[in-house]
Amino acid sequence: MNKDLWDRCVNFHGHECPGLAIGFRACEIAKNKLNLSFSTDEEVVCVSENDACGVDAVQVITGCTAGKGNLLHKDTGKMAFLFFNRETGKTVRLILNQLPATMNREERQKYILEAPEDAVFTIGRPKFTVPEYARKFNTIVCEQCKEGAAEHKIRVHDGKKLCLDCAPDYEMHW
Ligand SMILES: [Zn+2]
Ligand SMILES: [Zn+2]
Repeated sequence: MNKDLWDRCVNFHGHECPGLAIGFRACEIAKNKLNLSFSTDEEVVCVSENDACGVDAVQVITGCTAGKGNLLHKDTGKMAFLFFNRETGKTVRLILNQLPATMNREERQKYILEAPEDAVFTIGRPKFTVPEYARKFNTIVCEQCKEGAAEHKIRVHDGKKLCLDCAPDYEMHW
Protein backbone atom coordinates (compact mmCIF):
# COMPACT_ATOMS: atom_id res chain seq x y z
CA MET A 1 0.00 0.00 0.00
CA ASN A 2 1.23 3.47 -0.94
CA LYS A 3 1.20 5.29 2.41
CA ASP A 4 2.01 8.73 0.94
CA LEU A 5 -0.89 8.48 -1.46
CA TRP A 6 -3.21 7.36 1.34
CA ASP A 7 -2.11 10.36 3.44
CA ARG A 8 -2.85 12.70 0.52
CA CYS A 9 -6.33 11.21 0.20
CA VAL A 10 -6.93 11.59 3.94
CA ASN A 11 -5.80 15.23 3.79
CA PHE A 12 -8.11 15.97 0.90
CA HIS A 13 -11.08 14.16 2.42
CA GLY A 14 -10.57 15.52 5.94
CA HIS A 15 -10.53 12.23 7.86
CA GLU A 16 -9.70 8.58 7.37
CA CYS A 17 -12.60 6.17 7.18
CA PRO A 18 -13.60 2.82 5.65
CA GLY A 19 -15.44 4.70 2.88
CA LEU A 20 -12.28 6.48 1.79
CA ALA A 21 -10.47 3.14 1.91
CA ILE A 22 -12.98 1.66 -0.55
CA GLY A 23 -12.21 4.33 -3.15
CA PHE A 24 -8.48 4.12 -2.48
CA ARG A 25 -8.31 0.35 -2.89
CA ALA A 26 -10.56 0.39 -5.95
CA CYS A 27 -8.16 2.84 -7.62
CA GLU A 28 -5.10 0.76 -6.72
CA ILE A 29 -6.65 -2.36 -8.22
CA ALA A 30 -7.93 -0.57 -11.33
CA LYS A 31 -4.46 0.86 -11.88
CA ASN A 32 -3.02 -2.64 -12.18
CA LYS A 33 -5.88 -4.12 -14.17
CA LEU A 34 -5.94 -1.37 -16.78
CA ASN A 35 -2.20 -0.60 -16.77
CA LEU A 36 -2.85 3.00 -15.89
CA SER A 37 -0.39 5.60 -14.70
CA PHE A 38 -2.91 7.88 -13.06
CA SER A 39 -0.45 10.70 -12.49
CA THR A 40 -0.17 11.39 -16.20
CA ASP A 41 -3.13 9.59 -17.71
CA GLU A 42 -5.76 12.01 -18.97
CA GLU A 43 -7.62 9.25 -20.71
CA VAL A 44 -9.22 7.68 -17.68
CA VAL A 45 -12.93 7.91 -16.99
CA CYS A 46 -14.41 6.87 -13.66
CA VAL A 47 -18.07 6.20 -13.07
CA SER A 48 -18.88 6.20 -9.38
CA GLU A 49 -22.13 4.49 -8.45
CA ASN A 50 -22.32 6.39 -5.16
CA ASP A 51 -21.49 9.84 -3.85
CA ALA A 52 -19.84 8.68 -0.62
CA CYS A 53 -16.38 9.20 0.91
CA GLY A 54 -14.55 6.97 -1.61
CA VAL A 55 -15.15 9.41 -4.45
CA ASP A 56 -12.65 11.78 -2.84
CA ALA A 57 -9.90 9.16 -3.12
CA VAL A 58 -10.82 8.65 -6.77
CA GLN A 59 -10.34 12.36 -7.47
CA VAL A 60 -6.97 12.54 -5.73
CA ILE A 61 -5.55 9.35 -7.23
CA THR A 62 -6.95 9.31 -10.75
CA GLY A 63 -7.32 13.01 -11.42
CA CYS A 64 -10.86 12.28 -12.59
CA THR A 65 -13.02 15.26 -11.67
CA ALA A 66 -16.57 16.43 -12.28
CA GLY A 67 -15.26 19.57 -13.93
CA LYS A 68 -13.23 17.69 -16.53
CA GLY A 69 -16.19 15.46 -17.29
CA ASN A 70 -14.26 12.26 -16.61
CA LEU A 71 -15.82 11.61 -13.22
CA LEU A 72 -19.42 10.59 -13.69
CA HIS A 73 -22.01 9.76 -11.07
CA LYS A 74 -24.43 6.93 -11.65
CA ASP A 75 -26.75 7.17 -8.72
CA THR A 76 -27.57 3.59 -7.80
CA GLY A 77 -26.15 3.92 -4.28
CA LYS A 78 -23.97 0.85 -4.86
CA MET A 79 -20.42 0.73 -3.49
CA ALA A 80 -19.17 0.27 -7.02
CA PHE A 81 -16.66 2.05 -9.23
CA LEU A 82 -16.03 1.62 -12.90
CA PHE A 83 -12.83 2.65 -14.60
CA PHE A 84 -12.46 3.06 -18.32
CA ASN A 85 -9.31 3.66 -20.33
CA ARG A 86 -10.28 5.65 -23.44
CA GLU A 87 -7.04 4.79 -25.18
CA THR A 88 -7.24 1.02 -24.92
CA GLY A 89 -10.99 0.61 -24.44
CA LYS A 90 -10.23 -1.52 -21.39
CA THR A 91 -12.71 -1.31 -18.58
CA VAL A 92 -13.16 -2.76 -15.12
CA ARG A 93 -15.92 -2.52 -12.53
CA LEU A 94 -15.38 -3.20 -8.84
CA ILE A 95 -18.17 -3.62 -6.35
CA LEU A 96 -17.54 -4.01 -2.65
CA ASN A 97 -18.29 -7.42 -1.20
CA GLN A 98 -20.36 -7.78 1.94
CA LEU A 99 -17.86 -7.55 4.77
CA PRO A 100 -18.06 -9.73 7.89
CA ALA A 101 -20.61 -8.01 10.12
CA THR A 102 -18.54 -8.52 13.24
CA MET A 103 -15.85 -6.04 12.20
CA ASN A 104 -15.68 -2.65 13.84
CA ARG A 105 -14.91 0.52 11.91
CA GLU A 106 -11.13 0.24 12.31
CA GLU A 107 -11.07 -3.43 11.32
CA ARG A 108 -13.21 -2.71 8.26
CA GLN A 109 -10.82 -0.01 7.09
CA LYS A 110 -7.79 -2.27 7.56
CA TYR A 111 -9.51 -5.15 5.79
CA ILE A 112 -10.48 -3.00 2.82
CA LEU A 113 -6.93 -1.69 2.47
CA GLU A 114 -5.04 -4.94 3.04
CA ALA A 115 -7.12 -8.07 2.32
CA PRO A 116 -6.67 -9.87 -1.03
CA GLU A 117 -8.42 -7.89 -3.78
CA ASP A 118 -10.93 -10.63 -4.60
CA ALA A 119 -11.94 -10.75 -0.95
CA VAL A 120 -12.68 -7.04 -0.89
CA PHE A 121 -14.28 -6.56 -4.31
CA THR A 122 -16.11 -8.51 -6.94
CA ILE A 123 -14.18 -7.49 -10.01
CA GLY A 124 -15.73 -7.75 -13.44
CA ARG A 125 -16.88 -5.98 -16.53
CA PRO A 126 -19.61 -3.31 -16.42
CA LYS A 127 -23.09 -4.03 -17.67
CA PHE A 128 -23.45 -0.51 -19.05
CA THR A 129 -21.47 1.55 -21.52
CA VAL A 130 -19.44 4.64 -20.76
CA PRO A 131 -19.74 7.86 -22.76
CA GLU A 132 -16.50 8.19 -24.69
CA TYR A 133 -16.05 11.90 -24.21
CA ALA A 134 -17.57 14.67 -22.17
CA ARG A 135 -20.55 16.09 -24.01
CA LYS A 136 -20.39 19.73 -24.95
CA PHE A 137 -23.64 21.67 -25.12
CA ASN A 138 -24.40 24.94 -26.84
CA THR A 139 -25.42 27.85 -24.67
CA ILE A 140 -28.90 29.30 -25.13
CA VAL A 141 -29.80 32.68 -23.65
CA CYS A 142 -33.03 32.55 -21.68
CA GLU A 143 -35.62 34.89 -23.21
CA GLN A 144 -36.82 36.00 -19.81
CA CYS A 145 -33.81 36.50 -17.49
CA LYS A 146 -31.24 36.76 -20.32
CA GLU A 147 -28.88 34.34 -18.58
CA GLY A 148 -27.19 31.70 -20.69
CA ALA A 149 -27.69 28.00 -19.94
CA ALA A 150 -26.69 24.69 -21.55
CA GLU A 151 -29.18 23.87 -24.29
CA HIS A 152 -30.31 20.55 -22.81
CA LYS A 153 -31.53 22.47 -19.74
CA ILE A 154 -33.65 24.92 -21.72
CA ARG A 155 -37.44 24.51 -21.77
CA VAL A 156 -39.80 25.89 -24.38
CA HIS A 157 -42.83 27.57 -22.80
CA ASP A 158 -45.42 29.48 -24.88
CA GLY A 159 -42.92 29.50 -27.71
CA LYS A 160 -40.20 31.09 -25.57
CA LYS A 161 -36.92 29.46 -24.66
CA LEU A 162 -36.64 29.63 -20.90
CA CYS A 163 -34.05 28.49 -18.38
CA LEU A 164 -35.07 26.22 -15.50
CA ASP A 165 -35.29 29.21 -13.13
CA CYS A 166 -37.84 30.91 -15.35
CA ALA A 167 -39.76 27.96 -16.79
CA PRO A 168 -42.86 27.13 -14.74
CA ASP A 169 -42.31 23.77 -13.13
CA TYR A 170 -43.47 21.86 -10.13
CA GLU A 171 -39.98 20.59 -9.39
CA MET A 172 -37.10 22.48 -7.85
CA HIS A 173 -33.91 22.49 -9.90
CA TRP A 174 -30.65 23.31 -8.23
ZN1 LIG B 1 -15.21 9.68 5.14
ZN1 LIG C 1 -34.28 32.59 -17.22
